[in-house]
Amino acid sequence: MSVADLWTFKLPTAVTLGNGCVRQLPQIAVAHGARPLLVTDRELVRLPPFACVQEMLPGVPVFSDVTPDPTVASVDALAAQLRAGRHDVVVAIGGGSAMDCAKAAACLVAGNLPSIRAVHSEGVPLGSAHLPLIAVPTTAGTGSEVTPFAVLSDTEKQIKGPIAGDALYPVHAVVDPELTHSLPRKITVVTGLDALSHAIEGYWSRNHQPICDLMAIEAARLICANLKRAAQQPGDAEARSAMSCAATLAGAAFQLPKNAMVHACSFPLSARYHLAHGTACAFTLEEAIRFNAPVMGERMTSFLRGIGLASAEELTALIHELKQLGGLPCTLRDAGIPTADIPSLARESFHPLMRNNPRTMTEADLVTMFERLA
Ligand code: ZN
Repeated sequence: MSVADLWTFKLPTAVTLGNGCVRQLPQIAVAHGARPLLVTDRELVRLPPFACVQEMLPGVPVFSDVTPDPTVASVDALAAQLRAGRHDVVVAIGGGSAMDCAKAAACLVAGNLPSIRAVHSEGVPLGSAHLPLIAVPTTAGTGSEVTPFAVLSDTEKQIKGPIAGDALYPVHAVVDPELTHSLPRKITVVTGLDALSHAIEGYWSRNHQPICDLMAIEAARLICANLKRAAQQPGDAEARSAMSCAATLAGAAFQLPKNAMVHACSFPLSARYHLAHGTACAFTLEEAIRFNAPVMGERMTSFLRGIGLASAEELTALIHELKQLGGLPCTLRDAGIPTADIPSLARESFHPLMRNNPRTMTEADLVTMFERLA
């Protein structure tokens, strides 16, 4: 695609970003409804970032039964609580899990489906109706606060994958970097490398477009310059602000072009071996850069120049260093994946996102890639 090609950019989500901006939540919530419900996950409900948000909306009921890989069952349970309480606005606080579960439930409650499973794995299209949803990220990673996707797991069917549709765009993203200051090192790295994957994949997707390209480059530049610092010095306000900004920019950068091979490969890695989403993306990221960079020519050179690195090798070395810093698996053995699983893993990595990859990927290429990671 060149800049002369036809493209459409949109981002229907309002974004408010900056230290302390969570204090604007009361006005933002009241603009969208009178009966809010706070949604968060089982862990975060006991931690300071949630308390900080709850202080802004005292007395508002809470749903906190979101599991780390949100399931269709969590979505259905949340939709039932939204209906029972006749809530008219959803405030989702957390990482991707809480936001994705809440986004899906905000759609489910406004439609007539009994379960989100119908959309997730039975081919029923997501309708356009939804409750307004305000997204308050507490990690700098997923970008879910500005995307029309929700990644869900169906434990009964053993399927993990995204649902997509404009109804999943949050109405407002409230991105307060101060909520990320208490994140431990490993989560900082895992989520930060997910954001880097979004920036890289949004940029190299076959559907890339100029506005998203700009955001992808800036997001990757910020991550390359700040993720190590945020991981090593958790209270470094400047690094944390840069990472929050980068994660939201990266979300906006891939939400239209969509991801490619790194995310396609991440789904079976998460579903079968329970790797966290960012860990699963980081697992193949360096190999994906080595595979795709040779076909990208001038576009790869511009990307690297824009993020302040001299070569693709410098980028893969930095990613490797970050993975080691966060204690992430770098080999199949580290990840507890038997080499005997390589053929089936390669087969299951052909999620439709694979079609966005700039270089055509075959099953044999994937087997080779996983063998290199053994
Ligand atoms: Zn991701």
